[in-house]
Amino acid sequence: MIVTKTISETRRIINEAKKKGKKIGLVPTMGALHDGHLSLVRQAKKDCDFVVVSIFVNPTQFGPDEDYKKYPRTLTDDKLLLGRGKVDLLFLPTAEEMYPQRFSTYVTEGNLSQFLCGKSRPGHFRGVCTVVTKLFNIITPGIAYFGQKDYQQVEIVKKMVKDLNFSLKIKTVPIAREENGLAMSSRNKYLNSSERKKALAISQSLSLAKQLIRKGERNCKIIKNKIKNHIRSKKSVKIDYVEVVDAKTLEPKTKLSDRFVIAIAVYLGKTRLIDNIILEA
Ligand code: AMP
Repeated sequence: MIVTKTISETRRIINEAKKKGKKIGLVPTMGALHDGHLSLVRQAKKDCDFVVVSIFVNPTQFGPDEDYKKYPRTLTDDKLLLGRGKVDLLFLPTAEEMYPQRFSTYVTEGNLSQFLCGKSRPGHFRGVCTVVTKLFNIITPGIAYFGQKDYQQVEIVKKMVKDLNFSLKIKTVPIAREENGLAMSSRNKYLNSSERKKALAISQSLSLAKQLIRKGERNCKIIKNKIKNHIRSKKSVKIDYVEVVDAKTLEPKTKLSDRFVIAIAVYLGKTRLIDNIILEA
């Protein structure tokens, strides 16, 4: 696996690969890799001839009180996993490389970003759109891979690609879960064993909601309350939001129809976890 740190070196290698007719796949990550990230890599390996993974803990998507400094960094392990996954290129820029002094241009999606995590993390999606735009311009992939775990993120990226006429495809990869149902996340590394047990309430409550809907429940308030009650039954889990939203517009729904997403964000201590499920009425 080739490892690059600069944009110029990365561009040179990508150009060479393109000259050989290779189809480029990109998997953007913030590292502390787990099987969720690797499922994106596996999909990229199936579709493309030259797979690039970026690891960059992007400062512009973290709020001032968030975990940018503390975010888990496990580069030695990450490199091993990516090497085993037969990744062709690991792009590992520094913050200075991506945001040199006097950097002053940002990308903002103005609609889908207002909902869900956009409310509790102001500026987060501006940071995401900006870094993803930069990565698309540096790597120029044919396909970029994003996880359904961050459902709002991938919908915003798709919207940005459409609105700004980027010439690439976005592929969404399903949520990878631990055997007990917990959605894999780099932030799970923050959890102690008691918090890990409590975190199971998130995916359990989504399964509960699914059963309720299968039995015919269509009232979103009732569904959200069931979820909230289940989560609140575990002490010290603080709900940020439980929402039922339209799968495309991300607007909150009152009565179920079409394709919709149940999205949850909670805090376990200082750790913020998210999860979701896509369903059809
Ligand atoms: P992150 O490193 O957390 O920024 O995630 C990088 C990419 O991996 C994003 O597109 C995430 O949605 C995706 N991802 C993270 N966790 C999972 C998971 N459990 N299942 C599928 N994709 C995931």
